[in-house]
Amino acid sequence: MVLSTKSLPKKRRASNPLSLKDIFMMLPIVTYPDKRLKAVSKEVIDFDADLHTLLDDMYETMINTNGIGLAAIQVNKPINVLIINLPDDDEEGTQDRANLLEIINPIITHSEGTTVYQEGCLSVPKFYEDVERFETIGITYQDRYGKACSLEADGLLSIAIQHEIDHLLGKLFIEKLSYGRRKKFEKEYKRMQKELKAKK
Ligand SMILES: [Zn+2]
Repeated sequence: MVLSTKSLPKKRRASNPLSLKDIFMMLPIVTYPDKRLKAVSKEVIDFDADLHTLLDDMYETMINTNGIGLAAIQVNKPINVLIINLPDDDEEGTQDRANLLEIINPIITHSEGTTVYQEGCLSVPKFYEDVERFETIGITYQDRYGKACSLEADGLLSIAIQHEIDHLLGKLFIEKLSYGRRKKFEKEYKRMQKELKAKK
């Protein structure tokens, strides 16, 4: 998931340093309408070095693309893995790695209320739209070592987790738009892709 430019702190947007090290660890992001995003992700069984490398590379990829959440399927690994790193409330909106959540094999155990938030997605670049989600959720999941964990989430964290879990189910946030808005999106998105191609 990515925050709209409207809700991004200005300072954070201005500085996006890419070091050589980061470039090597960046994974290509699969973007809509690529059909690979429709796959239903598989359960993680082995909590091994390969998984840890994937998690580390996903982190670099997410941070360097200004994302706050990323599901493994978005980097062409359809397994039940997602990461979330919310920005702090400070002016810079720093994403402190100490707050990084690595969520593997998540299951939503309960949900309550509804909330609307303007979402964006690294797989649907440059498009932001209001989406309705549960206000609070509870999940169980495993960490990178396979340890069983649970979490209660509300606010942006709850929204981000739901957005990423949808990815694991092969769903994108644009599927939650009304018929009219979705049509408008398809038109705008196609035009934007054409423009991008023309630039290349
Ligand atoms: Zn997304």
